[in-house]
Amino acid sequence: MKLNYKPPKIDFKHGTVILAGSGPGSKDLITLKVLSAIKQADVIIYDALVNKNLLKNSKKSSIFIFAGKTKNTKACTQNEINQWMVFHAKKNRKILRLKGGDPSFFSRGSQEIKFLKKNLINYKVFSGITASQQAVKSSNYTFYNESGICNFITGHKKIDKKSISFDLEKIYKNEGRIFVYMGVGQIKNISSKLQNLGMKKSTKVCIVSNTSFPYEKIINTTLRNVEEDIFSNKISPPAIIIIN
Ligand code: SAH
Repeated sequence: MKLNYKPPKIDFKHGTVILAGSGPGSKDLITLKVLSAIKQADVIIYDALVNKNLLKNSKKSSIFIFAGKTKNTKACTQNEINQWMVFHAKKNRKILRLKGGDPSFFSRGSQEIKFLKKNLINYKVFSGITASQQAVKSSNYTFYNESGICNFITGHKKIDKKSISFDLEKIYKNEGRIFVYMGVGQIKNISSKLQNLGMKKSTKVCIVSNTSFPYEKIINTTLRNVEEDIFSNKISPPAIIIIN
């Protein structure tokens, strides 16, 4: 089949918000639909993990709003993001809410959709390649996952609180491969919890930081050594930790 790589028609109406994922970072891993949305948007509200070079594909007149956090700036609030979307939609603009990876993986997309619905703003969701899809390719694991089960979890700091919405014990018991997002700062907690539950210290762990970029780092280690190896290899977020 001959493929035609002309950007697809996306029907981006004025007053609409498109919530989209830009992929893990490399410009080659953005979908054609999302690229079309960048080209047409009047307003682009983008997160810290979006590759800024992708934004160069926008119109000259586009308004850019950074919705992330840098070393020198505080993150904006979720409420501010919600208000920006509604404000610009009411001005009848085409708004692109651009997130890293896929908007359904550990992003606050659902909260944003809820707010848009409440304010009667039309929206669409365009998927992207989530970071763990690229990270598993970069790791030297075979793709074959013997358990046939994949767990995607967030290592967000709430993991050691009782209120956390998932139970690591259940995940350990299902014996599936575990992909940890936002886990670098919580790796001590996660690895010791898994070891206490009985996971072998020799279990394979692969950390992939900045996946898809030329400066991607891949560390193959074990559950026993993961914390130390993250430290000694100066791994900093964003990283995906693949366990087992
Ligand atoms: N929606 C995003 C995830 C947002 S949560 C997605 O689908 O990928 C942010 C976390 O994603 C980071 O802390 C990290 O765990 C992961 N991540 C995002 N981009 C990454 C990258 N280029 N390399 C490694 N991990 C990444």
